[in-house]
Amino acid sequence: CAAAALMVRHRMKCSGRWARAMTILKEFEEKSGTPISKLRQVADAMTVEMHAGLASEGGSKLKMIISYVDNLPTGDEKGLFYALDLGGTNFRVLRVLLGGKEYGVVKQEFVEVSIPPHLMIGSSDALFDYIAEALKKFVDTESEGLHVSPGRQRELGFTFSFPVRQTSISSGTLIKWTKGFSIEEVVGQDVVAELTKAIERVGLDMRVTALVNDTIGTLAGGRYYNKDVIAAVILGTGTNAAYVERANAIPKWPGLLPKSGEMVINMEWGNFRSSHLPLTEYDNALDVESLNPGEQIFEKMISGMYLGEVVRRVLCKMAEEAAFFGDTVPPKLKIPFILRTPDMSAMHHDMTPDLKVVGSKLKDILEVSNSSLKMRKVIVALCEIVATRGARLSAAGIVGILKKLGRDTIKDSEKQKSVVALDGGLFEHYTKFRECMESTLKELLGEEVSENIVIEHSNDGSGIGAALLAASHSQYIGLDSQ
Ligand code: BGC
Ligand code: MG
Repeated sequence: CAAAALMVRHRMKCSGRWARAMTILKEFEEKSGTPISKLRQVADAMTVEMHAGLASEGGSKLKMIISYVDNLPTGDEKGLFYALDLGGTNFRVLRVLLGGKEYGVVKQEFVEVSIPPHLMIGSSDALFDYIAEALKKFVDTESEGLHVSPGRQRELGFTFSFPVRQTSISSGTLIKWTKGFSIEEVVGQDVVAELTKAIERVGLDMRVTALVNDTIGTLAGGRYYNKDVIAAVILGTGTNAAYVERANAIPKWPGLLPKSGEMVINMEWGNFRSSHLPLTEYDNALDVESLNPGEQIFEKMISGMYLGEVVRRVLCKMAEEAAFFGDTVPPKLKIPFILRTPDMSAMHHDMTPDLKVVGSKLKDILEVSNSSLKMRKVIVALCEIVATRGARLSAAGIVGILKKLGRDTIKDSEKQKSVVALDGGLFEHYTKFRECMESTLKELLGEEVSENIVIEHSNDGSGIGAALLAASHSQYIGLDSQ
């Protein structure tokens, strides 16, 4: 009888805890809601900030950086060029043989190298030496058929995926680091000069002829294959967008207007912020404790570096205040960034009836070995909330760009297609995120307009794009082609 009473009390305690956990989840869901009316406000705010950022330097949280790319690839690019793509936990070096209109991209080779975490927060020389070494090693594998003509210097397109104040097509100073990089001494420095010094230190004969953001590279790569590409968006470790603007719509433009009448703008939309964003206590805490507090607020709600971390934070609260995982909080759960977005994605896509993927992730990552099906379902629901919010906000961002360009209302399909080149691991691998982003875009634009808006996956377009821009800004332009 006493045992039965104890049992009843235990059940009541459990159901009380469960109810509390559900309340935490519900509250989070409500606060991070993205009804269509809110998304429209976000899209409008994005358009407004774009105008402000184009009007004056420092006029907006959106830097709207002038890329100095006033001509996108035409297909005429010819010769052998290198590209270096740096911006996440890996970097790539590429060798691309361009054959002009007739032959297109004849051949490309690349290697991918991961960056040891200590180099992301170490010194400038250590980072750039590491990169230059890898570049040299790659150059040494040039084969008989694939090398620059004798007497020519190798030329490199440098994709550097951080906010850079461009001073020309081939130079620019780092405004700040993002995505977990933090090497103070590089901030304010010309990143091409830093790379060039390292290239010299390793004894390589190579010149950087184009410095581009990954969004610009993706836009250039996308345009090479499809002339209707007007914008590029990265949804990866970080997030950002670039698009083609009319040069006379850039009041802050300092010089003569380019002949083409166009200029590609790197928005740095990761730094967007608006009172319309559905920010929660978890986002605020994540921001405060991050390497870059107050910065990249949009990015922290959307991109791959942070989605899993938001999930972890909500779970932590459920564990601490509602004993979601039992009487003790799993110690691993307290470690920032331990729950990575790919793991979150795997749990979110778990189609097994007993959610065994969720179960094994909980075991492997958090050392929680006794999860019930009920708990696992809650975790899937939490992933859904976080991913949906990010996906819908990114759709709103794209609509903001289309609005700025007056392309959010074109119904006549004869008239104009607008293609947006998308790349990044989140877009590529997180299926539910991508599908939600695409369906939200349709929802926002309406049936008719969305027929003219095409989302195109540009697979690693940013590397090719940088090589193409290196080609169109080659020091040998005007001389015979290679
Ligand atoms: C950087 C951008 C970059 C984006 C995607 C952001 O953190 O600020 O420059 O384009 O990540 O890689
Ligand atoms: Mg890719």
